[in-house]
Amino acid sequence: MPETAIISEVAPRDGIQSINPASPVSTDAKIALIQACYDAGLRRMEVGSFVSPKAIPQMAQTEIVLAACKQMPGLESTVLVPNRRGFDAAIEHGADRLGFFMSATAGHNKANLNRTREESFDELAKLVRDTPKGTLIRFNLSCVFHCPFDGVVSEAEVMPWIERIVALDPDMEIALADTTGNASPDQVGRIFRHAIGKWGGRFAFHGHDTYGMGVANVSAAWEAGCRVFDSAAGGIGGCPFAPGATGNVATEDVAWMFARMGVQTGVDWPRLLVAADMAAGIPGAVPGGRMRAVPAARLAA
Ligand code: ZN
Repeated sequence: MPETAIISEVAPRDGIQSINPASPVSTDAKIALIQACYDAGLRRMEVGSFVSPKAIPQMAQTEIVLAACKQMPGLESTVLVPNRRGFDAAIEHGADRLGFFMSATAGHNKANLNRTREESFDELAKLVRDTPKGTLIRFNLSCVFHCPFDGVVSEAEVMPWIERIVALDPDMEIALADTTGNASPDQVGRIFRHAIGKWGGRFAFHGHDTYGMGVANVSAAWEAGCRVFDSAAGGIGGCPFAPGATGNVATEDVAWMFARMGVQTGVDWPRLLVAADMAAGIPGAVPGGRMRAVPAARLAA
C-alpha cells in the first residue's frame, strides 16, 4: 500500500494575505484560485481569515469565499480566526476547520499579535474549549524553529509550549510552523520526532521557502512521521510581521517530491500546474518554487 501525504493548500490565505493591499485581490479571483486548486485534486485548503478588513484588506469577504467553497464537494475549508469575533463569524458561516495561531517566541507574538504568549494562549484555550463538536481545529504555532526577532529557537523554549497546546484537546491538529523559512532540516526532524514520539501523529508542518530549504524541511518532517503539510500553489506567500519572509513552500514542489518518493497526494499534476501558474500570475504576488520553471517537469504534464 502506498503511503499518503495530506497537502493543505494555503495560497488562498497565507499567499494572498501577503500581497500588498495596493494590489487588491478580488473575491472572484480568490474563488477562481480555490476552484483551480480543487480541480487539481486538493481537498484541504486554508481559504481565508475572519479578520477586520480594515486590518487586512486582502481577507475581506471571507464569508463569500467560504460560501463558494461549500459548493465544492469534499473540500475541507479552514479559516483563520484571530479572536472571539472571528470565531463567531467562522462558525456562523460554516467553516469546516478553525485555524488558531500564536507564536512560540515572545518577540514574534508581540509583533504579530501585540500581546504576550500567555495572553494569546489563554484566549485560544477558551476558543478551543468553546468549539462546537463537529468543527475541526488546526492550532498553528508560529516560529517554532526560528524567529525574526529572537533568532534560532531552542527545543527547551518550544517543547513546553507544544506540551501545553497538546493538553488543550486530545484530537486537534497542531501545526509546527517555520514562519521565516530559516529552519534547518535536522532541526525540523528532531522536533517532529520528539513531538510525535511523545504526543502521537497529530502534527502538521507549515513551511516557507525563504532560504531555499522548504522542500528539504518537508522531507525531514515526513521522515520524522509528519503526514500533513501546508504549501502554496506557485509558492506565493509571506508574512508581513516576519521581515524578509517570502513564500510558502510551493505545492507543486512538494507534490513533485512526494510523487518521486511514491507517496500519494491525490494531486493531478497538469491541473496543479494550471493552479500554480494562476497563483503566480495574481498581480502583486511574489511567486516562488522550482517546478513551474523546469521544462521536463512541465512536459510531464
Ligand atoms: Zn506562513
